[in-house]
Amino acid sequence: MAHDVTVIGLGVMGSAAACALARRGLRVLGLEQFPPAHDRGSSHGRTRVIRQAYFEHPDYVPLVLRAYDLWRELESETKRTLLVKTGGLMIGPPDGPVFRGSLESARRHSLPHRRMSRRELSQAYPFMTFHDRDEALWEEEAGVLFAEESVQAFQDRARELGAELRFGAKASLPASGKTVITAGGWLPELAPEIPIQVERQVMLWFDLPPGHPPTPLFIWDRPTVPFYSIPDVRGDGVKVAFHHHGEITTPDRIRRDVAEEDIRAMKDRLRETIPVLADRYRRSVTCMYTNTPDEHFAIGFAAGRADTVIASPCSGHGFKFAPVIGEIVADLVVDGKTRHAIGPFGLNRFR
Ligand SMILES: Cc1cc2nc3c(=O)[nH]c(=O)nc-3n(C[C@H](O)[C@H](O)[C@H](O)COP(=O)(O)OP(=O)(O)OC[C@H]3O[C@@H](n4cnc5c(N)ncnc54)[C@H](O)[C@@H]3O)c2cc1C
Repeated sequence: MAHDVTVIGLGVMGSAAACALARRGLRVLGLEQFPPAHDRGSSHGRTRVIRQAYFEHPDYVPLVLRAYDLWRELESETKRTLLVKTGGLMIGPPDGPVFRGSLESARRHSLPHRRMSRRELSQAYPFMTFHDRDEALWEEEAGVLFAEESVQAFQDRARELGAELRFGAKASLPASGKTVITAGGWLPELAPEIPIQVERQVMLWFDLPPGHPPTPLFIWDRPTVPFYSIPDVRGDGVKVAFHHHGEITTPDRIRRDVAEEDIRAMKDRLRETIPVLADRYRRSVTCMYTNTPDEHFAIGFAAGRADTVIASPCSGHGFKFAPVIGEIVADLVVDGKTRHAIGPFGLNRFR
């Protein structure tokens, strides 16, 4: 079959793009070097956070609102549960980036939210130890996405809509026809013009004692490095990870094994914050952040190439946007422009 567009890389972004392009009636070829929903890129590890009061920048809010609708659409099309709402806390000192940024986004976009004082936090979560200056923004709409299931759902739906997806197929440029590059941490091999850094991250799971009340979903701005947690929604344990705390590496050189010191660092953090978890380590896995210098997304046409769209480096916070990034990619490929406001993510800022 002749194809209208080739998608290189089928992590969550490429799978969502393949699905959106097939939805627009294009004949799509998707190429992935590894098996479906593998664990060597950035889209594995059971769960991801989705939230609306976006501390990174208020410009993300309209996109994430659209993403919620598209996640629900994908769930109903594939008859799978992909998103579970839990509510979530953005915790930190009132002048820190997590609390201040979340509040600004919530106010600017009139998102439902509630402020919680340190006293209210301690009352609601007596098993957590808060810092004197901690406050939190509670947002009801925050929740959990199931990572591998989401990648699989996009791929299944793309196939149903006529896409051809090939695995164990490492692609090189030029591909035939129009091209979408969603290569994550491998992007420098295909588009060295985008200055990304791959950062090693470790996700860890700890068990609550039987019968213990659940921990909340949170992002917590702590001295030296923030961390976040996803509650145990499916019996996998409570997931915890530092946010931007890893060594700079490449997909070929990354230390994929988790070291004793990685586990010790998290146990130390839990002793200070949620002591009941600290001695109940279950498992861990490594993953890659693909960071741009300003930690905002990178989406647009390759230099001088109106037939090649790049959409990948998501600096550790892109998963929740995957379906809307797919829609943006389809707009760019089909119409040459998009209905969504993606100004802050343009590739010209790197040129
Ligand atoms: C530990 C961790 C926690 C995170 N937490 C969150 C969170 O809570 N919420 C959130 O919204 N986001 C989160 N993120 C970010 C989010 O997961 C990523 O932004 C997203 O998964 C990136 O997807 P991707 O498709 O760009 O990259 P990848 O998943 O790495 O996909 C790229 C794919 O391209 C393939 N590929 C590369 N080159 C080629 C080639 N030449 N030929 C064929 N195939 C190729 C690769 O094999 C890979 O499968 C987190 C990320 C990590 C690592």
